[in-house]
Amino acid sequence: MVHYVYDFQDGDRDLADLLGGKGANLAEMTRLGLPVPPGFTVTTEACRAFLATGEEPEGMSAELSRHLSTLEKSAGRLLGHPDDPLLVSVRSGARFSMPGMMETVLDIGLNDASVLGLAKASGSERFAWDSYRRLIQMYGSTVMGVDPVLFDEAMTLLKEARDAPDDLHLDVSDLAWLVETYKRLVRDETGRDFPQSPAQQLQQAILAVFRSWNAERARLYRRREHIPDDLGTAVTVQRMVFGNLGPDSGSGVAFTRDPATGRPGLYGDYLANAQGEDVVAGIRDAVPLADLERLDPRSYRQLRDHAQTLERHYRDLCDIEFTIERGTLWMLQTRIGKRTAEAAFAIAAELVGEGLITADEGLKRVHGEQLGRLMFPRFDTDKAGAAIAHGVPASPGAAAGTAVFDSAEAVRRGKTGEQVVLVREETTPDDLPGMVAAQAVLTSRGGKTSHAAVVARGMGRVCVCGAQDITVNTGARRFTARDGTVVEEGTFISVDGSTGDVYTGAVPLIPSATMRYLESGEQANAVVAAVARTLEHADAVRRLEVRANADMPEDATRARRFGAQGIGLCRTEHMFLGERRKLVEEMILSRTQAGRDKALAALLPLQRQDFTGMLEAMDGLPVTIRLLDPPLHEFLPDRTELAVRVASVEASGGQPDAHDLELLDAVNRMHEENPMLGLRGVRLGIVVPGLVAIQVRAVAEAVAERVRAGGSPRAEIMVPLVGSVEELRLARKEVARVLAEVGEETGVPVRCPVGTMIELPRAALTAGRIAEEAEFFSFGTNDLTQTTWGFSRDDVEAAFFSAYLDKGVFAASPFETLDREGVGRLVRIAVEEGRESRPELQTGVCGEHGGDPESIHFFHAVGLDYVSCSPFRVPVARLEAGRAALDVTDTGDSR
Ligand code: ADP
Ligand code: MG
Ligand code: MG
Repeated sequence: MVHYVYDFQDGDRDLADLLGGKGANLAEMTRLGLPVPPGFTVTTEACRAFLATGEEPEGMSAELSRHLSTLEKSAGRLLGHPDDPLLVSVRSGARFSMPGMMETVLDIGLNDASVLGLAKASGSERFAWDSYRRLIQMYGSTVMGVDPVLFDEAMTLLKEARDAPDDLHLDVSDLAWLVETYKRLVRDETGRDFPQSPAQQLQQAILAVFRSWNAERARLYRRREHIPDDLGTAVTVQRMVFGNLGPDSGSGVAFTRDPATGRPGLYGDYLANAQGEDVVAGIRDAVPLADLERLDPRSYRQLRDHAQTLERHYRDLCDIEFTIERGTLWMLQTRIGKRTAEAAFAIAAELVGEGLITADEGLKRVHGEQLGRLMFPRFDTDKAGAAIAHGVPASPGAAAGTAVFDSAEAVRRGKTGEQVVLVREETTPDDLPGMVAAQAVLTSRGGKTSHAAVVARGMGRVCVCGAQDITVNTGARRFTARDGTVVEEGTFISVDGSTGDVYTGAVPLIPSATMRYLESGEQANAVVAAVARTLEHADAVRRLEVRANADMPEDATRARRFGAQGIGLCRTEHMFLGERRKLVEEMILSRTQAGRDKALAALLPLQRQDFTGMLEAMDGLPVTIRLLDPPLHEFLPDRTELAVRVASVEASGGQPDAHDLELLDAVNRMHEENPMLGLRGVRLGIVVPGLVAIQVRAVAEAVAERVRAGGSPRAEIMVPLVGSVEELRLARKEVARVLAEVGEETGVPVRCPVGTMIELPRAALTAGRIAEEAEFFSFGTNDLTQTTWGFSRDDVEAAFFSAYLDKGVFAASPFETLDREGVGRLVRIAVEEGRESRPELQTGVCGEHGGDPESIHFFHAVGLDYVSCSPFRVPVARLEAGRAALDVTDTGDSR
């Protein structure tokens, strides 16, 4: 028998798939004996069924009635009863937290009769009418689709007419008037009356919450956070408790630690005489929780104890929503709290230190992306002028851009590649697209728990909020700082999310403390020490080795400092560019073998020098050198340019330069419509005599030189773009011949493993054959993705990727995160069949995916020996390789 409704007493946190995070944690808190107003949760399964068919699943409404009766009995009151009504909230809650993205309706059960009953029973008319206007406002917009701005406008007009600075200054008759106005608004906008039946209110609100799963902003949020679209939301129905019952009531948000730094101690905001969302929405200025200690010491102490209970129970930072009703504390929500990258490392290390979690768990708690964020540079404050404003440092990092004053403008400018800072009084869920487009968010109101702060932290955007010393004038598109500085839209500003300071202009950047640690081992603060310990643990548990992609000795040296265990991809392309391009031109143009040999001979010493540098930097560790890969014409001048030059000389009756003509001829001969699939890689080596030989000779001579210098060079030769074992056989023969030759000439026996890149589907599918000739495979997943999907990255990314992401064809770009189903399958086949024919086959990946957390977990699972990525990603890859070994499946930090 399927259950669509679970009482709080029957659930627990392990049921989050079914009850959503909110419902599951409310159940968990109930079981822990914390003061949670009673209620029940309608499952995500019911939501999925409803969204699929447009109808409530059979049996749901009967179950709802049963649970409502139980709730009414426990409260000793009936929903919406005219004398003393039970009121409930209807709350959305998905598996993964999506703050503010879906809907919640409070005070369900009020109507023209029960509002009077509530007034009498509570002894506060003002409170009753305040609750009623809130209900119509929330119900009207969420369930009936009235534009919420219209309610806000009516409220603003009323406040102006009454000269009331905020809602607290409105009296009973004002609020009753507002109720009438709101009801009229609903009728005018929808042609229907605000429903007076409590049962109907409840039922319609539940369905509206189901529907809000598919609201535009919720979809956008899910896309960004890679949350699947088919999970659905649960709906929690809960007895109302009232924070708007007077000055001894209120509501607030708390963290069990500071989510920005990880420092222990209760942290948060409180707003007296307020209900629900008021705190986050910033309708009035909230006070820090420390003030609650003064206002209501008993509730504060209880809250602190409950926070400790939760942190011990969940063994992690928790965030909490609570309400105080006339001196009684109620817990309304908890979940594992979002945190900054700094806090993530600090908290994990501290909990490990306290023995609350193991080192393995500590490692699971942090993400590669967070480490990446800690490596970002920060502002050089010595070189910055005076800050023009200061706010709450809500999400750390240094970011700069031009000030913009609404979401649409941020999106518009962001699309053109402009860096922007979104400046708002406060943000709402509708600002999400602008926050995505911006480098940083700056608000003049709200604290560390405001919408801007929570969302920015979740996305890793820099955020300074509550900068009260600026006045934001959105209409005029400018803000004014306390010192009188006026920042118009389009002015460049710098925002320091770690200190809360705001500067005009672009402040210079310097390396972060984490970067300094990686470069020099210096452990400047507790966060860096936490990073160091976590990385050490990751190194201890990981099976995957981590190499770097580097072409220059300086990069190789840095990669080694960052912990690289070799070079997984050393490209030789650049070695043919710049000054040396002339030599390549000669080689291509020469008609005789002698001419070609001369050019090749001139290239040889230069190449040798490059390789010596790399082998020295990576002494004792493998360096995988890829033979020349790109099409040859890339080394020749631009075809159109040349043609124009020749044509214009001819047009003016002159005689074109002979060299130009010769070049144009060569360029035309080599022109390819689709060079990505043309004469490149191993094909080039087979067609251009001497090309492979010169490169291998340069490698071999470099090896010999390093051996004579007392080093331990470990060069590996990698043949690109192989599709058939025959190609590799031919290339390998040539390699072997040259290695032997150089061995004889130098007296140093040179042994280099020879392997291939797997970057064509045919190579993957015939891996068993190819492994006969290959000592290692390195998956070139960039090209493998292109050739598997049949599109070229440069052409498609701008053209249609955003549409594909929007429409859900991709969950993420296959160039950023490996497409497991397709490309991944090829990798798996190649590893299996390659090892079957050569058990000692070494396997690795050298595409960009080698530095992508989610892809790294896949590479671990399919049993590769190593991943190789850019030097700056090496620490991230070490961390994620460690996490992969612990069977962590969640690689995003945003959930
Ligand atoms: P969100 O997911 O956007 O935070 P919530 O469902 O948590 O939405 O509700 C919005 C606000 O209403 C929160 O501040 C919450 O604490 C408050 N709230 C929800 N249910 C109740 C209730 N039964 N009594 C009092 N306040 C409530
Ligand atoms: Mg909430
Ligand atoms: Mg390639």
